[in-house]
Amino acid sequence: MVVPDGLRPLLPELPAGAVTRFAPSPTGLLHLGHVHAALFAETLARQAGGRVLLRLEDIDRSRCRPEFAAAAEADLAWLGFRWDGPVRVQSRHMPEYRAALARLEARGLLYPCFCTRAEIQREIAAAGGAPQGQGQDGGPEGPAYPGTCRRLSAAARAARLAAGTPHALRLDMATALAAAPRGLSFHELGEGRLPCDPAPFGDVVLARKDIPASYHLCVTHDDARQGVTLVTRGRDLKPATHLHRLLQALLGWPEPAYAHHGLILGADGRRLAKRDKAPTLQALRAAGHGPDAVRRLAGW
Ligand code: GLU
Repeated sequence: MVVPDGLRPLLPELPAGAVTRFAPSPTGLLHLGHVHAALFAETLARQAGGRVLLRLEDIDRSRCRPEFAAAAEADLAWLGFRWDGPVRVQSRHMPEYRAALARLEARGLLYPCFCTRAEIQREIAAAGGAPQGQGQDGGPEGPAYPGTCRRLSAAARAARLAAGTPHALRLDMATALAAAPRGLSFHELGEGRLPCDPAPFGDVVLARKDIPASYHLCVTHDDARQGVTLVTRGRDLKPATHLHRLLQALLGWPEPAYAHHGLILGADGRRLAKRDKAPTLQALRAAGHGPDAVRRLAGW
């Protein structure tokens, strides 16, 4: 297997027998960005004498469609991406995510949040923060939640739950940080040990109102459950690792190593994405490109 030059510095740090994964969300057809991610995961696994897993992250039923999941498997087979073992489909494992949430809840680390998005924005604006915009006010996912429902009295909380008011479950970040070991860090291949700072996430949602789990919970759960020892994914998700290490520590899950790859950029210099009409594998194939040509286009 050809190893692109950019990957060579990572090889000496590969965990022996590394288990990596490619974990697309079937919200559309696979494009070159996905090819890059899949080949990154596969190359590192093969170089380590390990395994590469395929996981379909489809818990957001409003955005994911079964036909895209089926197309992803067919496209990857056409490309010659050979994953090991069965495909894990997240939506088939909701009871496992519920059990993980119950463990956090039993330790007093979660609380129900009844706020609507509009209410949260009003609170943040009233407190002088900026309600819109990624990363403003410090949070990696936008401004941190102002904690309104954390301060509800036990009686008010019980009354709303009894009335069946829809609610999300949030991590009580301050309590979680106090419960976790100090000095959390992660090993990024090629960069060494990096310190973790999950605090900017604030009281992050771990179970949504409409979906009883969140990306952060499912991804850390599944990496542990599937024995992933090297998390391979795009650099855009590197900030999430700070939170994932905290969840791993709270839930007693093993610590994987991490390798965040660069993103394939479009002609406009921005990350390729479905919304930018990035060329899909199916379109490239229809235009006469074979698997090797598509691998080359994706940097392999
Ligand atoms: N499902 C995520 C995505 O398609 C990737 C999650 C991960 O690798 O941690 O962006």
